[in-house]
Amino acid sequence: MTLHNVGRPTRPQAAASDGHASLTGARGLLQDEPLLFELGGWEKTGVDLPAPEHDASDLGDLVRAAPIGLPGLSEPEAMRHYVRLSQKNHAIDLALYPLGSCTMKHNPRLNEKMARLAGFADLHPLQPQSTTQGALQLMDRLAHWLKTLTGMPAVALSPKAGAHGELCGLLAIRAAHEAAGHGHRRRVLVPTSAHGTNPATAAFVGYSVTEIAQTDDGRVDLSDLESKLSDDVAAIMVTNPNTCGLFERDILEISRLTHEAGAYFYCDGANFNAIVGRVRPGDLGVDAMHINLHKTFSTPHGGGGPGAGPVVLSAALAPFAPAPWVVHGEGGLHLVEEAIDEAAQAFGRMCAFQGQMGMFVRAYAYMRSHGADGLRQVAEDAVLNANYIKARLSSVMTPAFPEGPCMHEALFDDSWLEDTGITTLDFAKAMIDEGFHPMTMYFPLVVHGAMLIEPTETESKRELDRFCDALEALAQAAKAGDAERFKGAPYLAPLRRLDETLAARKPKLTWRPEPTTVAPAPLAAE
Ligand SMILES: *Cc1c(COP(=O)(O)O)cnc(C)c1O
Repeated sequence: MTLHNVGRPTRPQAAASDGHASLTGARGLLQDEPLLFELGGWEKTGVDLPAPEHDASDLGDLVRAAPIGLPGLSEPEAMRHYVRLSQKNHAIDLALYPLGSCTMKHNPRLNEKMARLAGFADLHPLQPQSTTQGALQLMDRLAHWLKTLTGMPAVALSPKAGAHGELCGLLAIRAAHEAAGHGHRRRVLVPTSAHGTNPATAAFVGYSVTEIAQTDDGRVDLSDLESKLSDDVAAIMVTNPNTCGLFERDILEISRLTHEAGAYFYCDGANFNAIVGRVRPGDLGVDAMHINLHKTFSTPHGGGGPGAGPVVLSAALAPFAPAPWVVHGEGGLHLVEEAIDEAAQAFGRMCAFQGQMGMFVRAYAYMRSHGADGLRQVAEDAVLNANYIKARLSSVMTPAFPEGPCMHEALFDDSWLEDTGITTLDFAKAMIDEGFHPMTMYFPLVVHGAMLIEPTETESKRELDRFCDALEALAQAAKAGDAERFKGAPYLAPLRRLDETLAARKPKLTWRPEPTTVAPAPLAAE
């Protein structure tokens, strides 16, 4: 079966890498691209500057003996390099990016425009606060929105990602237990379906981790939770909606049992997109929850940053919130850098300054442009889109939890691939040949060969249909025994199957000149 019959080959044997390798390493209009250092000659420069009047001798014996080895490129060379690199990777601006648990949605350009306003972009974190009142006001308003949307009384804005927010929440919980003389509480309960950052964070804070089993319908097993709650438990960490894409039906009971046992309820809020504007975690008894601004509130993420993971806190934990925070004072707004007040027992701070200002601006712009009603619509449409995918693909793939609707992501297992010899990985790689980023694979771990698809609310029905058409056709090809199409996929990507273990174990993160490369000549002494 041919999925796309215009413009490019879809059959493995017709793919350039197998049949006819190109002479240049380029494939069609996709250029082969060496490193910047391999491109640039040392003797070249992209700009024409007059020779400095004074030489570097002002520096005394600190003067550099040799050039620092920056590659010399002309402006078009440098520009082409980066544009070529940008074409090698998938992007949310290119096509649907169905990575479950990550909420990869469209990033409105308005947010980018706001973040680039000089009044925000050119601020220095050490500038006098009298000159940064607008930025402090934005932080204050953002905090207000986050507290209102979650129904929680306090928020720490500074954590720089979801995982950093988890660390912040657990440090606040540890500080609260220690202040109450409950330092012996050293255990954290985490459901088996949890994101890896949950147990990792608990361990990092010095807690031991106990797993809570899950029921056949993908929720926390209440009786198992009850049996594991005791007076050495510091907290539970529950994701809601959970990583199976399901709402924890017994969330109020989970919260009640946890509090009765004297523990705190940490909620992983990475999936807030599914309930924003509809459910306030504070009403569920949550004590601390991080919000991935870069997921729910649309700021760009991936490739390691930037992100922001503000943590909302209950009244019990609020006094332990890390510095800094914004207060209204006589001369305007003020950033409190140290816990001076007796009520404040800040456990410390999460980072040097106030957090990711650029992310705050983008998230606030998103909130203001959607409004409260628009944010509620986000959650409703995200859930609707995921259920559309679940309904359409259930005829060819096997949903992990067929009963009832899902929340914002549709989870399939690999039982429909049984006897085909094709794995979840092979199937995901074949999606690349169809122009889609693969879904999240093999997560959550509790589902065999898991495929977690999150479309988000920003995909239109047309785009969802295009995606479902391609997946349906691929699924039929898999069942029809066309293993070759999958085993060798991707055929059409710039790079094909990588040695992922080697890449993870021995990443090459720095460039060193090959021994044959001519070393930069020392600067000639004047
Ligand atoms: C994304 C995610 C995290 C971690 O957030 P980062 O911002 O990537 O650090 C934690 N838990 C869940 C469920 C997530 O999806």
